[in-house]
Amino acid sequence: MKSEVIVRNNIITGSPKEMTASKYNYRTVNTGVQLTAEELNILNQALDELMDEVSDNHLPFLGSEGQRKGLLHRSWHDLGKAMRRPRTCIYPGCADQSIPRSHTIQKAGPLSFIAEGFHVVAPGFASNSEGYSIARVGLNDASTFPGYCQKHEAVFHEFETTCEIKTERDVVLQVFRTICREIAVKQIQIAQIRKVRETHDCLVSNKAMDKLKCRLGADFVKKHDLRNLTFDRVSKAQVGTLEVERELGEVLKGLETEFLPASALELDGREDLLYHVSVAVQQPLFMCLSGIANFWIDDHGKRISVRTILNVLPSPQQTLIVATTLAIHKCYLETYMHRMLGQMNGALIMVETWMVRGTDHWFMTPSEWENIPESRQAKILADMLDESFSIGEAYQTSVLDSVREQLLTLPEAKAEPPEIYQAEASKLIDRVVM
Ligand SMILES: [Zn+2]
Repeated sequence: MKSEVIVRNNIITGSPKEMTASKYNYRTVNTGVQLTAEELNILNQALDELMDEVSDNHLPFLGSEGQRKGLLHRSWHDLGKAMRRPRTCIYPGCADQSIPRSHTIQKAGPLSFIAEGFHVVAPGFASNSEGYSIARVGLNDASTFPGYCQKHEAVFHEFETTCEIKTERDVVLQVFRTICREIAVKQIQIAQIRKVRETHDCLVSNKAMDKLKCRLGADFVKKHDLRNLTFDRVSKAQVGTLEVERELGEVLKGLETEFLPASALELDGREDLLYHVSVAVQQPLFMCLSGIANFWIDDHGKRISVRTILNVLPSPQQTLIVATTLAIHKCYLETYMHRMLGQMNGALIMVETWMVRGTDHWFMTPSEWENIPESRQAKILADMLDESFSIGEAYQTSVLDSVREQLLTLPEAKAEPPEIYQAEASKLIDRVVM
């Protein structure tokens, strides 16, 4: 007889009659030997002990620290590799192979403008740390993803060689690329998380089976030919990764079924299913950004999450800030922009909010980041991990210091009520005055 024990959270069943006292699921193949009540009791006890170990503290259970780090490191390494591997072209309806690197943000435009020595800095996950860190990225790699085939990459050729986003057409192309990158990244991330979860599940099941065999003894195992142990939604890691997969899947579905078709129609000049708000500010910001985030709106007591495509594109003359939602959410986006831009340094605070609470897909001038005091850098990176805020809640720590410094000297800043001016000035209080 071959036995397989399936441990499911909160499910109390036992298929054969003899096993009704069981709190676990036993699937037996072949009906030669049945478990006696006493054996069932022993098995239940052994599984109880295992469950405590797995659900409370899955990581030490997995093995040594080295094994765990190895698993983590491989997963990020694979993710990086997958982001450079050609895939099917993301242009709707195209089945051709993509080139490995399409830029989301124009290399010749905003990226070159903010670069120093052909480099920018960007947040990322180091394989040996738990949170975000900032690393230097070369201009050839910044914002790239496996996006379009040769033919569709050429759609952006003219746009790529201009240095500034000026026309409505430029905005439409930029938003389309942002949506495509988000789709590609999320597809790759979901596949990657699934792979890591499956590896984790397999490791946990194998380890648990070894422990079970030890606990039950060789005779018991041989008599019932116990072979497989499958854990289903038992460990916190399993439940956690399934939740991440579900959340990412939901955003991906919205992008694939709503934003991408709407953006492609707009690209063809056919329909207005998207709504863009563009704000041009006179200060060149030393960062660029392209991603997706959400804010919440209370619509007559109904709480609605509004997905928004974000772009911040600086040039030497000005910075173009673009927020895009589905056209049906037009009034929500207008309310949001009004609220954000209505405060002192509104555009600056909104961009900083997008950087910390919206998307981690941004780039900054290296010296601008290095000028932020270390303790504030650490705070910004830690706050980026806090998912309890949306871009609807203004971030109150300075990220773009040089622009804030400059804005604080303007006459209109001095005309603000003193407490409001002071609140903005105090964001830079930790800077060393030379
Ligand atoms: Zn194509």
